Amino acid sequence: LLARQEQRESRARTYPRHLPIAIAEAAGSHVRDLDGNVYIDFLAGAGVLSLGHNHPDLVQAVVEQLGRHVHGLDLPTPAKDAFTDAQLKMLPDSMRDRMRVHFCGPTGANAVDAALKLCKTATGRGDVISFQGGFHGSSHAAMAVTGLVEQKSPVRNGVPGIHFFPFSYCGRCPVELTPDRCTTNCVAYLERALTDSNGGIPLPAAVILELVQGEGGVIPATVDFARRVRELTRALDIPLVVDEVQTGCGRTGTWYAFEQYGIEPDVIVTSKGLSGIGQPVALIIYDRRLDTWAPGAHTGTFRGNQLAFAAGAEMVKVVRRDGVLQNVRERGLQIDRLLAPLQELPHVREIRGVGLMWGVELADPVTGHPAGQLARDVQHRALRRGLILECGGRDDCVVRMLPPLNVTAETVDLACEILATSLREAID
Ligand code: PMP
Repeated sequence: LLARQEQRESRARTYPRHLPIAIAEAAGSHVRDLDGNVYIDFLAGAGVLSLGHNHPDLVQAVVEQLGRHVHGLDLPTPAKDAFTDAQLKMLPDSMRDRMRVHFCGPTGANAVDAALKLCKTATGRGDVISFQGGFHGSSHAAMAVTGLVEQKSPVRNGVPGIHFFPFSYCGRCPVELTPDRCTTNCVAYLERALTDSNGGIPLPAAVILELVQGEGGVIPATVDFARRVRELTRALDIPLVVDEVQTGCGRTGTWYAFEQYGIEPDVIVTSKGLSGIGQPVALIIYDRRLDTWAPGAHTGTFRGNQLAFAAGAEMVKVVRRDGVLQNVRERGLQIDRLLAPLQELPHVREIRGVGLMWGVELADPVTGHPAGQLARDVQHRALRRGLILECGGRDDCVVRMLPPLNVTAETVDLACEILATSLREAID
């Protein structure tokens, strides 16, 4: 496997460093490599393939659109209108009328950049508050608000005026290093910084928050934390941007993660799973009070991917018709149940998940240090057994699962069995 990986990397520097396979074809939750091996895909294009590979209804929608119209700049089209309507329909009732949509694609990072620019324009302020451990993308500004130091350290002094605060990573946060579950000291710290005249932080243009940190190691914010951040930002008139690039489109069992926190953001950033089939598209959905851009103020060439729009509108229909969100919740409970016995292993520090976003955090049982190499070993062993996983978090010590949202109970059973076997084998 590794020889082939090196050969391929010489042609294109890509992902196979950790996943040494070349995919020939795919369907549903499975992919076949060039050698004919079949894998369960619990990475799903980094959480993009909401309905798995090549969902027949989405393929049909794309093929029909292909014969009609493909690239539409940022102009209105029937496909775009249907897609926009579908997205607005998926908003909570209380938000629908006041939210506006801006297409910023093609990628999540583009939409994060757009959200920050919009908030700066609307408030006339320049600084941004972000949280430690969050990931927001690889463009210059999205990386600047990313709180994963390892990933951004080669790019120094990128964007000025970004301030990082502790996320509600209870028991391990730098504010309150206690094993008990404090959920609010981090917000109290943020509140002090924003309201104390000696706090040293100018009132920011935005607070950007990933409610379940994905790349950071599948760390859900506590409800208290999210609500208090919302109360604080509202009281100080700071737009709250939630980055739902990974958590959105049903990944956590509701269309957006913020619904489970009982909060309403001012700006939603969404991308990955929007088309359901991997056609790139990215949006911000924002409160009309922030609607300060003149026409043409934030333009881009690839904003009119009609194939993504056609697939995305169809995906919303399928999600509703097939009870996909219910499946996410049920399969999530199933994963929780199946992985629970692993908690007994001395190397398993924590198993965390919401909906179909799961992570098994591994640590050295003696030192407590993140066991990144062990996690990579588990990933490679699982791959050899036919399961594609990813790693993330501190030193990549969290083995992550992001299956398609319509994954079956049987496939979840098999995948969890492979993960458990690979983990036990790697520890032995
Ligand atoms: N925000 C979050 C929460 C993400 O998980 C990602 C991608 N992993 C991004 C932003 C960036 O999206 P993209 O890679 O499409 O630019």
